[in-house]
Amino acid sequence: MKLITISVPAYNEEAMIQSLYQRVVEVMDKVSVNYQFELLFINDGSKDGTLAEIENLRENDERVSVVDLSRNYGKEIAMAAGFDYAKGDALVTMDADLQHPPEVILKMLELWELGYEDVYAKRNHREGERFLKKATSKCYYKILQKLSRIPVLPDAGDFRLLDRRAIDALRNLRETQRYTKGLYNWIGFKKN
Ligand code: UDP
Ligand code: MG
Repeated sequence: MKLITISVPAYNEEAMIQSLYQRVVEVMDKVSVNYQFELLFINDGSKDGTLAEIENLRENDERVSVVDLSRNYGKEIAMAAGFDYAKGDALVTMDADLQHPPEVILKMLELWELGYEDVYAKRNHREGERFLKKATSKCYYKILQKLSRIPVLPDAGDFRLLDRRAIDALRNLRETQRYTKGLYNWIGFKKN
């Protein structure tokens, strides 16, 4: 049985924790014959009841765990903590606010089984974002591509599955000013 770590950085997400948990459980129940999961929250110095919500889940479900950061370090560092504490054969990193639909994890697992070590979700449409945000985002990636020798995939967010080998490669990169979307490409594993 393979273990999948689902790693979720959370900053002031008290309203989302319970529904995220439910959605993740629903999805992972469908593949429970082949996979166990751990739901690893990284509480990034939340000032609301996020930690209490997580602790509440943890009392009833030992698949839930939490790394409680001492203050707000930002999402990139919170994600790095997830890479450090993940026990899984693969890790899925996703946002707490359900902008990353957990159902997509099933497709990611299929691609992982085909041998891909870095499976990323691409946004079909930037839902709910205004024209200006879309345009600036497009521009940002264009400029970034010109400035950087490492390609960064546009619209490929941080909703991703990483094989254990890719996690370990990322763990060797101890940058504190992290840009994880660049690091994914720098470590160079087989992508889909
Ligand atoms: N997040 C975090 N630390 C922060 C800010 C955000 O861990 O300082 C988490 C947040 O809880 C969410 C994810 O990072 O799970 C993405 O944050 P957000 O939804 O604010 O970003 P966006 O949707 O604009 O990418
Ligand atoms: Mg969001």
